Amino acid sequence: MTNSRPQEHQSPVAVNPYADVDWKATDQCLSQFHLHEPRNWIDPQSTAHDPSGEIADGGDRKRASPGDLIKKYQCAGYSALAVTEHEYYVDGTKHKGEGFFEGLDVTSWPWSQWGHPVGDGMIPIQGAELRGTLEGTDECHDIVSLGTDLGHGRGRSLLEVATEIDNRGGISFLPHPGRYPHPESLEAYIELFEQVETVLGVEAFNAQDRYPGCRDIWDSLLVRFGSRRPIWAFANDDYHARPRTPETERFDRSRTVLLLEEQSPAGVIDALRAGRSYVQYNGDGIAPVIESIAVDDGRVQVVSPDATSIRWIADGKPVETGAVLEIKDVSAGYVRAEAVGSHGSVSCTQPLYLT
Ligand SMILES: [Zn+2]
Repeated sequence: MTNSRPQEHQSPVAVNPYADVDWKATDQCLSQFHLHEPRNWIDPQSTAHDPSGEIADGGDRKRASPGDLIKKYQCAGYSALAVTEHEYYVDGTKHKGEGFFEGLDVTSWPWSQWGHPVGDGMIPIQGAELRGTLEGTDECHDIVSLGTDLGHGRGRSLLEVATEIDNRGGISFLPHPGRYPHPESLEAYIELFEQVETVLGVEAFNAQDRYPGCRDIWDSLLVRFGSRRPIWAFANDDYHARPRTPETERFDRSRTVLLLEEQSPAGVIDALRAGRSYVQYNGDGIAPVIESIAVDDGRVQVVSPDATSIRWIADGKPVETGAVLEIKDVSAGYVRAEAVGSHGSVSCTQPLYLT
């Protein structure tokens, strides 16, 4: 038989965020997009979790500046970062539960105030962790704003806050969705993702994987929306420079790897919008690098030499293990891969939507 069937001419992957990535030429940029100003002293030259104790417990050390935080992440190999302070925290003071006043509508910006030189190998992104009311949840829901100067949600609904971020030309994502009541919040998430295109996705990993249910929520949203509305995964430390036990340490635990075409804030935002990224949870080790994700001849192949195994998830369910997936063997709306490393580490790709 020399005649191939017509459907074999059509790619089995409808939406592949990695389709245009030149893996050999592209810089893999470690990044954090959900981080707080240090609550305590930290060592900017160390890649270990800080601090060992609270300032309030005595000693002559001062609260570190966000500039020290930026240096610390730079030391750990990061090259893009947003300091996304809570809307109720300004200049080292917590105003949670207080009424709104204008002084709260600020962001941890610009970096020059901490003496951080521009173009110093770390791409700066302006942002904040805002809050909005959400049906079905008693407490306010957090939303991380990136690329805007919005510093406070002013008690509005999550949908209104996301719309305001969008109106200002920014992007946003939902941090730690596994923290809120589920599935009540799922219907509200669906409305939000339907209405505001620049809410790009959800955290799949937060800090020391505080909420493993985040991946279930992500998968539920992927199933619900399909290729018409991709939902991208994010992963972040949510680091506050608080003393923590070895099991709950947060520094350099969860992170997003960007496949950057351009080393600039605009390049970072573009990569986030397009899903040109993957997420890593380091656990007690270092998550394996993904060297490439390629679709060819009805197969998807993930190259990750340090991974001990690669598992494939389709429509929220494990379907296969191994570096290569035969797409014809899968009947699902999307597949995504998890490259498993040692000491509890894992690297997760974004979804590839099937036809
Ligand atoms: Zn946070």
